[in-house]
Amino acid sequence: MDVAVVVDFDGTVTEKAVSYMLLERYGRPGWRDLDRQYAEGRLTAREVIALQFSMIDATDREIDEFARHHVQLRPGFLEFVSHLRGLGYPVAITSEGLDIYIDPVLDENSVEYVNLFYNEARRDADGRLVPYYPHPDMDCEECGNCKSGLVKALQKDGNYVVFIGNGRTDVCPARGANMVFARDMLARTLEEEGKPFILFEDFHDVMEAWDSVVAHG
Ligand SMILES: [Mg+2]
Repeated sequence: MDVAVVVDFDGTVTEKAVSYMLLERYGRPGWRDLDRQYAEGRLTAREVIALQFSMIDATDREIDEFARHHVQLRPGFLEFVSHLRGLGYPVAITSEGLDIYIDPVLDENSVEYVNLFYNEARRDADGRLVPYYPHPDMDCEECGNCKSGLVKALQKDGNYVVFIGNGRTDVCPARGANMVFARDMLARTLEEEGKPFILFEDFHDVMEAWDSVVAHG
């Protein structure tokens, strides 16, 4: 069986969502209200990230340094990636976040052997952050980065896809994945929907469950 692993970044690979850490540190007033509108379904994920990233008042260099010095990986992530590498299973990080903070976090922690599917940070004429979406879904405007598209593409290539995530933009790809490890909001939503998943706190839990569930999946 070919297995491919797809992992969300903010709040899954990392202990806390880096996007929120940046907003808390550098955000202009008003970003929390946008979050409420998103939670109430009045904004799409694509709209809320574009608006919130434009409110982060920091240079690329400040964001890079903040990401390197303030972000903690979730325990066990490095060991998990190394375990998958040993098994020969590809790992992809898929994120609605931006390269300018994800790259430095991975670099600072010497994370290797992961494929990256995320949004790219650009700047408008006023110097504000504007996300560019290299992996959209042409028929759905909910997200900037279509995580489900990646899951489906890997399945089309014959892979059994294990999805690991925590948030609202993880619900759609989790519904389509072959196996799901979930925490936080994702776990609560899948529970309500009756979709099977394995609850995890950190990647040591994922590894502990891995051999029995994936090997016999
Ligand atoms: Mg997340």
